[in-house]
Amino acid sequence: MTTDQVRVGRRTIQLSRTDKVLFPDDGLTKGDLVSYYETVAPQMVPYLKRRPLSLERFPDGIGGQRVFQQTVPRYFPGWIETASVKRVGGAGNVKHAVVGSTAALVYLANQACITPHAWLSRADRPKNPDQLIFDLDPPGDDFPAARRAALDVHQLLTELGLPSLVKTTGGKGLHVHVLLDRTADFDQVREFAKGVAQVLVARDRKRYTTEQRIAKREGRLYLDIMRNAYGQTAVPPYAVRARSKAPVATPLDWNELDDRRLRGDRFTIRTVPRRLDQDGDPWHAASHRGRSLTRPRRQLNELLTETEALKA
Ligand code: ATP
Ligand code: MN
Repeated sequence: MTTDQVRVGRRTIQLSRTDKVLFPDDGLTKGDLVSYYETVAPQMVPYLKRRPLSLERFPDGIGGQRVFQQTVPRYFPGWIETASVKRVGGAGNVKHAVVGSTAALVYLANQACITPHAWLSRADRPKNPDQLIFDLDPPGDDFPAARRAALDVHQLLTELGLPSLVKTTGGKGLHVHVLLDRTADFDQVREFAKGVAQVLVARDRKRYTTEQRIAKREGRLYLDIMRNAYGQTAVPPYAVRARSKAPVATPLDWNELDDRRLRGDRFTIRTVPRRLDQDGDPWHAASHRGRSLTRPRRQLNELLTETEALKA
């Protein structure tokens, strides 16, 4: 058994079994995961602050058992931040782990937490998301369909006066984010996202669907807005996914969608640190001031009325 200590800021973290292979196809170890998260922490931690997390852990590697933890384990040290939030559809609270520092992220990685899944709201106002996410899942492996959907979502949001950001998921598709000012609650945000999806479907029925049942999608891309709900999570920027090659959910510049080599799993634990080193975080320059949906909602309602009129 190998043990190491790392000094991260004011903390000394005792690492365990750093040579444990977590990604058997590539030989990537827990030590590799720890160094990855330590390297990207300056860019990643701000995206995680105050968000309740659900931890997706693989103590025996991605081929082994998956542990999905909403509640922070009792043995976590007291300095790991936590957030108690109302249980989804039940009584009482759930105490989640929260990452507020590089040390906390390193600690989680040493716990074989490959993906910390994050709420779309922050613990001080858990019912009011500070971001809206369109989850673009391509039919099958048709990444160009996800890419095109992201561009269409981007264009419609621009028409509505809303800036948006795009990232790969580390899986098959893309996520489009809109940063919000937290004046709307989840129901209002989801209703808005649903309206956006309805306009896109009305504009291109062959390509898009809001149909949740896979059998009814018939090769169309599913515009998933259901993440925008209390207690739901999304994979945060720079999180690693439990798949071969350790792909990373990676913030992009919109113009990177023009690159034909782009895929949902294009960027990995091996390539993201250099990318960040060379070009920085593409989302950094974006205005991180969250927007209100009040005016965009009015414009969206006009578009919805128009599309209804077209159908009639
Ligand atoms: P992909 O591009 O492959 O779809 P994704 O991250 O969007 O990657 P989805 O399956 O579409 O994956 O799920 C969207 C989000 O929902 C995830 O980012 C994750 O945070 C959350 N999620 C998905 N599956 C689970 C699960 N089994 N348990 C908890 N959360 C999940
Ligand atoms: Mn998805």
